[in-house]
Amino acid sequence: MGRLVPGPARPYVSLMKIAPLIDPFARPITYLRVSVTDRCDFRCTYCMAEHMQFLPKAELLTLEELDRLCSAFVGLGVRKLRITGGEPLVRRGIMGFFRAMSRHLDQGPEMGLDELTLTTNGSQLARFAHELADCGVRRINVSLDTLDADKFAAITRWGRLPQVLDGLRAAKDAGLRVKINTVALKGFNEDELFTLVDWCADQGHDLTFIEVMPMGDIGGEDRLDQYWPLSDLRARLESRQTLTPLPERSGGPARYARIEETGQKIGFITPLTHNFCESCNRVRLTCTGELFMCLGQEDRADLRAPLRASGDADLAAAIREAITRKPKGHDFDYSRGIGGQVTRHMSHTGG
Ligand code: SAM
Ligand code: SF4
Repeated sequence: MGRLVPGPARPYVSLMKIAPLIDPFARPITYLRVSVTDRCDFRCTYCMAEHMQFLPKAELLTLEELDRLCSAFVGLGVRKLRITGGEPLVRRGIMGFFRAMSRHLDQGPEMGLDELTLTTNGSQLARFAHELADCGVRRINVSLDTLDADKFAAITRWGRLPQVLDGLRAAKDAGLRVKINTVALKGFNEDELFTLVDWCADQGHDLTFIEVMPMGDIGGEDRLDQYWPLSDLRARLESRQTLTPLPERSGGPARYARIEETGQKIGFITPLTHNFCESCNRVRLTCTGELFMCLGQEDRADLRAPLRASGDADLAAAIREAITRKPKGHDFDYSRGIGGQVTRHMSHTGG
């Protein structure tokens, strides 16, 4: 694979002037999440089976192709780009890609990217945190479901807690702001709720809890056995501290509250107990060039064919056509069994 050479931002910026992306429900699409690989160095039990079948490497878009695609989205008004996976930091050459994407930052008001960021399991942060900061990354999401080393090894199967804690120290040292993402797991981290909240307050990390979503086969594990509704988690928090809801700002699925006693901000992503699709501003691109207009629906648009066959104008047209198919909301529902699930894994679509 060739070395990525950052190209100009301008040709894409001029495309944006034509018309921004607006979906059929009048929601502006300004946020792109890109899964740069479906591979991972962990095997979290709620995310994938231990012997997960990954895509053949030949099916992956090259980093140069991902650059062209992401840049086309930036040209159409996307202001926030999140790199995810799989584990994004295990893709070879990924720092060149971050470096290339950084050319879209600081383009002035209403142009280019406001934010370049990533979601990571933290395993490679000790190595990459400073370089990420150097590429203009300011905030990162790090997934961490427990602070107990044995439980960490059990839930990630292949991960080790000290490696992630080292990574978090490196992130802090590099000046990156960290938000911890914790999947609420029944019988697994219920007993650590206050420990996790207090540790994040102590470390100066934001914290968001996520309900486990019914995505992909996870090899014999039962989703319903894992599902801990955030309504219950929140009630437990409120039995100890006062939570004041904060106004919605990000347009994302998370809702935030402030813990009055500490001033700490806690997020809740509740696709199952409360659906916040009405303000959805995002779409998701896979490492094979499929665009998912909704995390919780099967419909997708193939962008690889127009990417490979034609120039930037046709690619922009294909993106626009895909956005006209963005549905009103997801269809996750545990009560409908298999009908309320999607078959692909979170690691494929990018969590
Ligand atoms: N490997 C990176 C990481 O773990 O942060 C990025 C990709 S991972 C798929 C992104 C997020 O999705 C993580 O916070 C993970 O906990 C979450 N996730 C994975 N499977 C999930 C599921 N079935 N339901 C809810 N969240 C899930
Ligand atoms: Fe890997 Fe992230 Fe999935 Fe865990 S949640 S297996 S770290 S992709």
